Amino acid sequence: MVSRVIPVDTFDLVIFGGTGDLARRKILPGLFRRFLAGQMPPDARVVGAARAELDSASYRDLIAKSIAEFGGPEAKDEEGLAAFLTRLDYVAIDANGVNGWTKLANMMHSDVVRAFYFSVAPSLFGALAERLHQHGIANAESRIVVEKPFGRDLASAHALNETLAAHFNEGQIYRIDHYLGKETVQNLMAVRFGNVLFEPLWNNHFVDHIQITVAETVGVGGRGGYYDKSGAMRDMVQNHLMQLLCLIAMEPPSQFDANAVRDEKLKVIRALQPVEAHHIVRGQYDSTATEKSYREDAENPRSFTESFVAMKVQIANWRWAGVPFYLRTGKKMRARSSEIAVVFKDLGHSIFEGDISRHRNILSIRLQPNEGIDLQVTIKEPGPGGMRLIDVPLDMTFADALGDHAGEVSDAYERLIMDVIRGNQTLFMRGDEVEAAWKWVDPIIAGWEARNDVPKLYDMGSSGPDDALMLMHRDGRRWREIKG
Ligand code: NAD
Repeated sequence: MVSRVIPVDTFDLVIFGGTGDLARRKILPGLFRRFLAGQMPPDARVVGAARAELDSASYRDLIAKSIAEFGGPEAKDEEGLAAFLTRLDYVAIDANGVNGWTKLANMMHSDVVRAFYFSVAPSLFGALAERLHQHGIANAESRIVVEKPFGRDLASAHALNETLAAHFNEGQIYRIDHYLGKETVQNLMAVRFGNVLFEPLWNNHFVDHIQITVAETVGVGGRGGYYDKSGAMRDMVQNHLMQLLCLIAMEPPSQFDANAVRDEKLKVIRALQPVEAHHIVRGQYDSTATEKSYREDAENPRSFTESFVAMKVQIANWRWAGVPFYLRTGKKMRARSSEIAVVFKDLGHSIFEGDISRHRNILSIRLQPNEGIDLQVTIKEPGPGGMRLIDVPLDMTFADALGDHAGEVSDAYERLIMDVIRGNQTLFMRGDEVEAAWKWVDPIIAGWEARNDVPKLYDMGSSGPDDALMLMHRDGRRWREIKG
């Protein structure tokens, strides 16, 4: 495969939580793939930093095993793996104590980009930021990457922003949302802003409504205790779905740079109308003969936390007034599928005799599985028999046209990490965006809590509670099928 690799400056990347689940499943396998692609400069290094008392050799063994398990087909490249492992070091460190910090300080190279990935519980972010400064490890050019969740409401997100701001300026803070790292999400911006065709139609004159679905087949088993304090609204809507909504709805930025893009996203969040209670449906998955219900998985028989939410959202600005955005996300759904669908309005009049069906143009952006974009268009059904119309998808992923490059869909994490090294914040959330999102979400959750709202049960493997279907049917619309 031909590969276009854009070089980056050499770097020291320290991964706090380097032995954790995220580091082993995503971050290090992603870095390994970037290494194989030739994107890691000869002196670039990765330092795992975590609580476990390991030496660098045993850390390399641990990561070799993780890459074998999660690294995909590239993991079979034994020579490549051995070479990558020589770039890894490890330091046992205590975020809250003194252990390991002097050693880490001594490991840092000068004149390289220093990046610190906080892949630990958010309660440790403040301690890490403080110690990086105390020990002179972070400098004015250093970057920190922080994982989700970024707060659990406006107050905690604001406090976290303040804590980080005590040691780093906003230009150094990379709040990660891996949905923004997906190839197709960026392609959405290219399609919207790089073509003359779509922007004139991208408004309430031509768009009937927009659907955003993020459906998962997994339940909360294994992390039920954590999830039960969060729920679908906090865990998925406040961050991932709202970020997708922003990219679809934002005005064209004056240029494709980090602050211009994030200014426009922020305007969308600020224009979101409060959501009325009857425009939201919450759900919890029920048990089957063989599988546990949400409440059993969460080990909380009286839990009111939602594992599913569907909502109708309105944006109060000239472009989108009157265009509903329907959002839904849930666990234990029919299929693992994430999609944004821009459903255009019907033609005002059909010239084709007997054409009573509603043919619609739909632009669908699939984030998983099979990332890609297609446009549903109406054409004549081929063959004799008169003018019969059918709807077909026009594949806008253009695999044939892109040849070898079409296969190069790198994982979101590896793309985002390389953006950190490059110093490009476009695909990371700014502090004010995160706070604005919580400001919109908080009253919704407070409303549920105030009236002890009980989520509706739904069958595993379904599309959520029936009320979610009704949310659309009442408006004379229907959800798109959740397909794996
Ligand atoms: P984990 O529990 O598997 O790993 C935690 C890591 O933190 C371990 O390496 C541990 O040694 C280290 N650690 C704990 N206390 C420490 C201390 N006092 N000093 C130094 N290191 C300490 O957690 P995870 O699942 O890898 O998640 C890490 C972060 O990523 C969390 O903020 C989580 O919310 C976020 N996240 C994880 C996932 C995922 O898929 N695992 C997805 C999205 C976000």
